[in-house]
Amino acid sequence: MDYVIPVPPIATLPVEGTQARFPVHRIYCVGRNYAEHAREMGGDPTRESPFFFVKPADALVSDGNNFPYPTQTEDVHHEIELVVALAKGGKDIATDAALACVYGYAVGLDMTRRDLQAAAKKLGRPWETSKGFDHSAPVGTLAPAATIGHPTSGAIWLKVNGEPRQRGDLAQLIWKVPEVIAHLSSLFTLAPGDLIYTGTPAGVGSVRRGDALEGGIDGVGTLRITVV
Ligand code: MN
Repeated sequence: MDYVIPVPPIATLPVEGTQARFPVHRIYCVGRNYAEHAREMGGDPTRESPFFFVKPADALVSDGNNFPYPTQTEDVHHEIELVVALAKGGKDIATDAALACVYGYAVGLDMTRRDLQAAAKKLGRPWETSKGFDHSAPVGTLAPAATIGHPTSGAIWLKVNGEPRQRGDLAQLIWKVPEVIAHLSSLFTLAPGDLIYTGTPAGVGSVRRGDALEGGIDGVGTLRITVV
């Protein structure tokens, strides 16, 4: 097939134990999925339906790379999160069928222009400029579920310049991975290649140029980026 402009590159992630890469289709994110973080954002951590937002696939930044400090903000926050990668999709996926769709897991950072997000919330405007900007989606190397299983507990943490900033445990997720997939698939047709950020534990805060961010999830992996 001929195209009138060059075909854009496919966003991909490295996979543990193979040279083959994981092609990324869409990036979905869950808001406020740990009670302590919901409280620190001024919310009520009751179990109301989960809510979602998206980032473009080409916002990916892979492990070991730079995160360029974005424009039009003076308050960029880190949010360390478990990322789920789908091998299969569908609509209205049942909770008990959801884990069969998962290819693997990775450590991700949901980078956020917190000042623009606060303004958007106040004005009832959308979150794209606060959540879906260029380079807003650092994700580490994918660990296949065939190797690590489906983690339901384990420490999730982030250090900035070696100092602990965020710490929680996957067991504290309000909406568990199968429930997130089931809810999301009632709103969108999920597809192979989709990534899902599952929410961040408490301790979110600002980053500055020069900061070295190192995050990890026990049994899943680590992620390092530098703010430039
Ligand atoms: Mn988040």
